[in-house]
Amino acid sequence: MSDYILNSPGTFITDSLRGFVAAHPDIAWQPDPGFLHQRERTGDATVALVSGGGSGHEPMHSGMIGVGMLDAACPGLVFTSPNALQIVGATRWADRGAGVLHIVKNYTGDVMNFRIARHLVRDEIATDHVIVDDDVASDSATGPGRRGTGATIVVEKICGAAAARGDELGAVAEIGRHVVANARSISVAYHACTMPSKSEPTFELDADEMEFGVGIHGEAGRERTARVGARELVNRMVDPLVDALSLVHDEQVIALVNNLGSAHPLELDLVFGEVVADLDRRGITVARPMVGTFVTALDMRGVSITLVRADDEILSLFDAPTTAPGWAASPSRSTAPLTDTTFAEPSDSADDGEENQWLTRFVRHVQESIDDLTELDQRAGDGDFGTNMEAALAHFDLPVRGTDSQVLSAISTSYLVRSGGTSGVIFGVLFRELAHAFSDGDDFEASVRDGSSRALAEIQDLGGAQVGDNTMVDALSPAVDALDNGASLADVARAAADGAESTRDTTATKGRASYVGENARGVVDPGAVVVSWLYEAMPSDTSGS
Ligand code: ADP
Ligand code: MG
Repeated sequence: MSDYILNSPGTFITDSLRGFVAAHPDIAWQPDPGFLHQRERTGDATVALVSGGGSGHEPMHSGMIGVGMLDAACPGLVFTSPNALQIVGATRWADRGAGVLHIVKNYTGDVMNFRIARHLVRDEIATDHVIVDDDVASDSATGPGRRGTGATIVVEKICGAAAARGDELGAVAEIGRHVVANARSISVAYHACTMPSKSEPTFELDADEMEFGVGIHGEAGRERTARVGARELVNRMVDPLVDALSLVHDEQVIALVNNLGSAHPLELDLVFGEVVADLDRRGITVARPMVGTFVTALDMRGVSITLVRADDEILSLFDAPTTAPGWAASPSRSTAPLTDTTFAEPSDSADDGEENQWLTRFVRHVQESIDDLTELDQRAGDGDFGTNMEAALAHFDLPVRGTDSQVLSAISTSYLVRSGGTSGVIFGVLFRELAHAFSDGDDFEASVRDGSSRALAEIQDLGGAQVGDNTMVDALSPAVDALDNGASLADVARAAADGAESTRDTTATKGRASYVGENARGVVDPGAVVVSWLYEAMPSDTSGS
């Protein structure tokens, strides 16, 4: 079976083009001989840009069609260059009398087909070409030279802007070659890509391996090595780029961190941060950031980094507007300095004063039960409950110190700030109401009663849970009833525990656990259990809590 969502591998590209054209009304498909073009031909007699290449690198090139970038693009089959007749058709369509520039990635098939196409139209149309060869991993004294990769879209952007401002064909080509000479890229993959017709990737990598210097056609890289941390990885990638471009202190670059297919946006941002930090150490400024999915190798899991030496003219062309849907939607005009993006530590510890015995008992009980709570939520919910309790309570040093109201307030803040999920807010509210009640009065039982009933009302208002819905309300509500009836704290704790136990036989209708339905039968609700522990921890003799 194919790894891709498709009708059949044979119609993968054409079916995808159909959706692409439907989604982009400004781009049209010309079936004979097969190319995409801007639906409306630009009126001015400016230089036209045509590119193309094998499919599988989307959004390049199709997504780079638009005012200010490409006039037309010729898609080949997956990883296969377009044929010369496609290129001839696109060149004829695009020419507005000022000539046509071909932007070609340096692969033998692409170079030959574009060359023949230029040859075929030489009596009708003035043409020129820019060959993009930015991949340092394929640098060698012999062979076809460096491959064209991520820098291609920067060349398309800058040439497109130069054409749009009215530069002549020779000048547009000249600036394109200037960008090529000042651009280098390198790619790394953690997983190879899989062809649409295959079920196995083009090469196998062990779980701890990476392919360094990988190509964008599923070809193996320069070196297969152990994976390293992102900082080290980025350093190894940036080194050869800086070397090849002879970048020195005080220079500025456009830095493109590109998704090769299935890297996650979080990884791309992380890598970009490392690129900025690494270049910073070398005294090189990232004048323009580009982070996203631009030049892919089907579903390869990895990233490429492209650096382009930039001067003011390059930057102004880079900044010029374009309607191309694959270009960054709202590109940044600068890079902000790296900042510390860790979360501030909440000031929630009440670590002075007397030891608070009952809250120490409660916090200890939860701290020692994280794994059990996780397991309960795994069986009845999504498994994060233990982690949420841990986030809120693990950092309390035992014994906890402070008055009831101080410690309750610290626990509340901790739940609200440190803990996520439903439980973070629900328990945050419970402890906040208890803290308020304890700060208002000094009778222990009255404070517990007032705080508990206000918390119950607010929690039910928040989440709508009723008794029987299999939530912590099933423990809290009977505790509140018992308190209202003047029961002893020991009886209140028993009521809460019985309530928690009652959740064993119902299935959740509120919260995340409701999605697992019948699976929750026979499992107690962990939130209700923790509530019962709170009452259980309370002193039975409240005269000297
Ligand atoms: P989630 O996975 O739903 O984000 P947690 O795993 O952190 O939340 O917390 C789950 C606990 O939250 C449940 O054990 C239950 O006691 C409690 N809970 C869920 N929904 C509600 C609700 N509507 N009202 C009160 N408590 C709820
Ligand atoms: Mg959960």
